[in-house]
Amino acid sequence: MLKTIEGFNRIGEENAFAVLARATQLAAEGRDIINLGIGQPDFRTPEHIVEAAVKALRDGHHGYTPATGILPLREAVAKDLHRRLSAEVSPDNVVIVPGGKVTMFMAILMFGAPGVDILYPDPGFPIYRSMIEFTGARPVPVPIREENGFAFSAEETLSLLTPETRLVILNSPANPTGGVTPRAEIEALVEGLEARPDIAILSDEIYGQMTYDGAPHCSLLEFEAVRDRLILLDGWSKTYAMTGWRMGYAVWPDQLIDKARKLAVNAWSCVNAPAQYAGLAALEGPQDAVAEMMREFDIRRKLVVEGLNALPGVSARTPMGAFYAFPNIKETGWKAKPLASALLEKAGVAVIGGPDFGILGEGYIRLSYANSAENISRALTRMRDFLDENAA
Ligand code: PLP
Repeated sequence: MLKTIEGFNRIGEENAFAVLARATQLAAEGRDIINLGIGQPDFRTPEHIVEAAVKALRDGHHGYTPATGILPLREAVAKDLHRRLSAEVSPDNVVIVPGGKVTMFMAILMFGAPGVDILYPDPGFPIYRSMIEFTGARPVPVPIREENGFAFSAEETLSLLTPETRLVILNSPANPTGGVTPRAEIEALVEGLEARPDIAILSDEIYGQMTYDGAPHCSLLEFEAVRDRLILLDGWSKTYAMTGWRMGYAVWPDQLIDKARKLAVNAWSCVNAPAQYAGLAALEGPQDAVAEMMREFDIRRKLVVEGLNALPGVSARTPMGAFYAFPNIKETGWKAKPLASALLEKAGVAVIGGPDFGILGEGYIRLSYANSAENISRALTRMRDFLDENAA
């Protein structure tokens, strides 16, 4: 019997992948499945980005690159952050990683250990808690409340800090709720955290360019007071429909950058070279594909919210960011996970049960509207028929 470390008794997963596997299996058996489960844009990566990767290979860019990424790409990231957020970032603080997720893995590994507290959003991206548990640190959920528009509360977050807190994880715009935290709340949080220079902040802004109705994205990068301990997580997956390319980046503060570089050297040496050239083309090329994708998501967002609110026992807030709706299903009488499972097995609609994103996700399900308007309408009809026939 092999004896691995204890953390493996606690490490979790992302149930969205299990739902995807089951949906794929049912489809292979001939069932007509509408997938509103998976969190990836259903658009193709824009052509000029694909071409840049092909050209990079033809030009002979097939070897190792510096561990933190090619300099032109790190420079382009810094320039993009300046263009979008007016933030001054040195390319020396940027680390290109194989997917945005890798930055949370690195940050949680850096700070997580028995005796340490790490705050994370609940409901939130499941890997935060999974990795915190893996390290043996104490996961401290920060409740993300529907009545608060699914924004995090500065006051509540600050009230959960202890002398043992080493890392606070923030996510806005948020998965799974689509919530966007207003600037005033972020300002209040930053002000509170100024008294605790021993706490690092991981701000997951992977959906930073995905907001609606002109709702501005407020980045933690804008706050000088915490820049010396801010880790910014971002990447290409969502903005440029590049989930399978595995391209992400982080901005690390001076006091952590060398540790981040060493983790990169130890774990993956460098990110796939042609993918880095694709990332460069994405940042330097035309941005109209991003705007076009967001216009389409906006149409679907309205469709999905209107349709959900017409279902018996279901009420949905209008998400202000990302491409998820997180309807309240408490009045249906169903628990969230059995409902998600029944919708897939009986109605052929894949969604994710709220508890897959944390204890406070009970009473909610997540629908990703990364699917065609036609399929979303069909899914809503199926959900209506199912709920009419299956009162819990
Ligand atoms: N952060 C959040 C909040 C996400 O929802 C996701 C992906 O779903 C990621 C990070 C990871 O993105 P990537 O696919 O680039 O690893």
